[in-house]
Amino acid sequence: MKIFKFGGASVKNAHGVKNVASILKAHEGEKLLVVISAMDKTTNLLEKIVDAYYSGSAEIRFLLQDLKNFHYQIINELQSGLNFPVAHEIDNLFLELECIIETPPQQEDYDFIYDQIVPFGELISTRIVSNYLLSQSITNQWIDSRNFIITDDRHRDAKIQWPETEKIINKRLSPLAEKNLVVTQGFIGRGPHNETTTLGREGSDYSAAIFAFCLNAESVTIWKDVAGVMNGDPKKFSDAVLIPELDYSDAIELAYYGASVIHPKTIQPLKAKSIPLHVRSFIEPTAMGTTVSNRSKNLDLPCYILKENQTMLQISTKDFTFIVEENLELIFSILAQYKVRSNIMQNSAISFSFVADIHPERTQKLIDEFSKNGFEVKSTKDLNLLTIYNARPVDTIKKVQGKTILLEQVNSNTLHYLTH
Ligand code: ASP
Ligand code: MG
Repeated sequence: MKIFKFGGASVKNAHGVKNVASILKAHEGEKLLVVISAMDKTTNLLEKIVDAYYSGSAEIRFLLQDLKNFHYQIINELQSGLNFPVAHEIDNLFLELECIIETPPQQEDYDFIYDQIVPFGELISTRIVSNYLLSQSITNQWIDSRNFIITDDRHRDAKIQWPETEKIINKRLSPLAEKNLVVTQGFIGRGPHNETTTLGREGSDYSAAIFAFCLNAESVTIWKDVAGVMNGDPKKFSDAVLIPELDYSDAIELAYYGASVIHPKTIQPLKAKSIPLHVRSFIEPTAMGTTVSNRSKNLDLPCYILKENQTMLQISTKDFTFIVEENLELIFSILAQYKVRSNIMQNSAISFSFVADIHPERTQKLIDEFSKNGFEVKSTKDLNLLTIYNARPVDTIKKVQGKTILLEQVNSNTLHYLTH
């Protein structure tokens, strides 16, 4: 059994869906489970719908219309001359979404609401792709991944309940996947009260790894719009080059620091069972791309990871006392409560600073919370965080020349620079 994962960029239009079908055709006869993300930027649009719903904005009508137009246009293009019966299923999904957003929010919890709305992107896209494949005589079974990916109720960042997930996948999904090509969603799961949960943005890679782990897959292939894992995002670093082979532990570090090509949680389940991960281009499907495994040689070049739109919060005590263990305990518990994951942190005698991607809607709430607990907070937004992994001095100097460095950190072979 192999797992394929196609991200939003691979199904951004009708041409993309046809390309996915041709890649799957080329693998006909192999046992495959295929994870497909929401189409193009649909998740961002759905996030706007959540914001509009939560704040009661009338803009929601237009956003919903955009969502519909985008998907129906793809369906129309795919259907020309074929007429496969997907529209009815999509109508029903939109109806379900409309039923949710027509009733004012019953819940205060933004993250819960988010998880009931945003997953429609994956539900719609997998229905479209599955039906298109059928129209091309690629037999497949559409499966709702919420029946198999069992999580806790930490909305927007749900944790996998591994024993339950493994058990149900073995019992119910494995026999189906042995017989048929399976098409399913990434990113979404089911919480303890049967409510939909999500695993965090870009979480479909992680879903693919979960399926691979539970099904003891022979490999996972993530099909992307880049050639493979590069030593920098080619859109930000013009001199970026492909890394053909990568060790699990280097891949974990790179993903952790924010190399967006792989979701940070993806590698661990694969490493645990030595399942290789291939990252390949859907534009050039015959190229080899990158293989992440435990048989790779040492990484011999530096990797650059640039995170934009970072916010730095500098926290000090209002009564000028030192930042000691008790304060740190409180600070970390507030960060955990607000689900803020810091990218770097630093503390001195009287202040504690950290840099994170913080949802703007959350920054003020977080500042208020610190303030309520006796801290003073200074926030600076729109910063860039450059991480250089496997750094060599000469490359490093070039990359930060001419920039104002607000914070600098060195951990063995990894450097971090926070700049304006
Ligand atoms: N559609 C979700 C997102 O864009 C999940 C994913 O694509 O991995 O974040
Ligand atoms: Mg996506």
